[in-house]
Amino acid sequence: MELTNDILVSIKKNIAHALHSDFYKKHFAGINVDDIKTADDFFKLPFTEKNDLREAYPLGICAVDTDKIVRIHSSSGTTGTPVIIPYTQKDVDDWAIQFARCYEMAGISKSDRIQITVGYGLWTAGIGFQLGAEKLGAMAVPLGPGNTDKQIKMMEDLETTVLGATSSYALLLAEEIAKRGVKDKIHLKKLVTGSERWGEKMRNRIATELGVELYDIYGLTEIYGPGIGINCPLQYGMHMWTDYLYYEIINPTTGEQVKPGEIGELVITTLQKEGAPLIRFRTRDLTREVLGDCPCGSAFPRIDQILGRSDDMVKVKGVMFFPARVDEMLAGIDGVSSEYQIMIDHLDGKDIITLFFETAETDAQARKNLEEHVGHGFKEKIGIAATIKAVGMGDLPRSEKKTPRVFDNRY
Ligand code: ZN
Repeated sequence: MELTNDILVSIKKNIAHALHSDFYKKHFAGINVDDIKTADDFFKLPFTEKNDLREAYPLGICAVDTDKIVRIHSSSGTTGTPVIIPYTQKDVDDWAIQFARCYEMAGISKSDRIQITVGYGLWTAGIGFQLGAEKLGAMAVPLGPGNTDKQIKMMEDLETTVLGATSSYALLLAEEIAKRGVKDKIHLKKLVTGSERWGEKMRNRIATELGVELYDIYGLTEIYGPGIGINCPLQYGMHMWTDYLYYEIINPTTGEQVKPGEIGELVITTLQKEGAPLIRFRTRDLTREVLGDCPCGSAFPRIDQILGRSDDMVKVKGVMFFPARVDEMLAGIDGVSSEYQIMIDHLDGKDIITLFFETAETDAQARKNLEEHVGHGFKEKIGIAATIKAVGMGDLPRSEKKTPRVFDNRY
């Protein structure tokens, strides 16, 4: 987004504050805030990477006296040292305001009942959904993840109107509700789901089977948590709360700003954070700026749904591709469901790529035709050949968290 003089003033204030932390004292050694006079000066500052934050473990990122910290959260590192993000009371309050604003953008009000099926604890998901619900004055039903029997019972008995869930768990619930034939006892109107890359087909299936409108909420533990942006009912991208943050879209390889509207990696600078201010934090999420004004009338600028992770780029037979392209390709083919998996293997000195997709089609010849059709699509869209295998509905594993799509068995 454009870096106006007003924003630059706000950013500089935040940099001066960040320099109270041990981490930024070291990371920005030799940098004088007064020397940052233009947007270009700002774009020359080093990025902050997740690995940098890991090295600041446990509280090196903290920019206030630790007595002012009221809570910590931690990002779900799969390996090694976690990242710890400290929050002051103002940070917690600001997060609640942003999350409540997300609910309002989605047309959710205090008369709604919000069932929260995402995790609680060090992770920011569950508590963020709850903070926002309470701020809004809605009824939070904080079940946390799993226990599908209880989820469905509560949904029926409490007449839950809003579901907060990952897209994979929402799909699992939708399938379970259909299987039990209890859809007429379900009062859901809206699904708010953490923005992750998921195809149109899966969205449509969940929307139809649960009878809900879908809202993608954006966020990450390093920057408050979920709730820093959401799509509006018109569904042209997600509005970002730019009174709390400034974002850039960069080329993940060169680190330079992409042209307006081009796909790149989202980089965020916080504007109001006290506990853990971050400057030019690389999210690894791929998206693009949605240009122009939104017909909904909101003045908050928009980014596209998350299109993938910059670490998810797969290189096979010398070709780089984003799994999101496969979602797009499958979405265009009738008879193919939303669920798929890509296996990459190395056999006899060659990379082999296999794409499994689910289909309701049971006739052997029809399945073969579909495989051929998908094979052509893959070659055309991705630029390499793949082995295509159709499987039945529900044959591929579902997950309560994000469903992995690509399994790289080469290394
Ligand atoms: Zn809008």
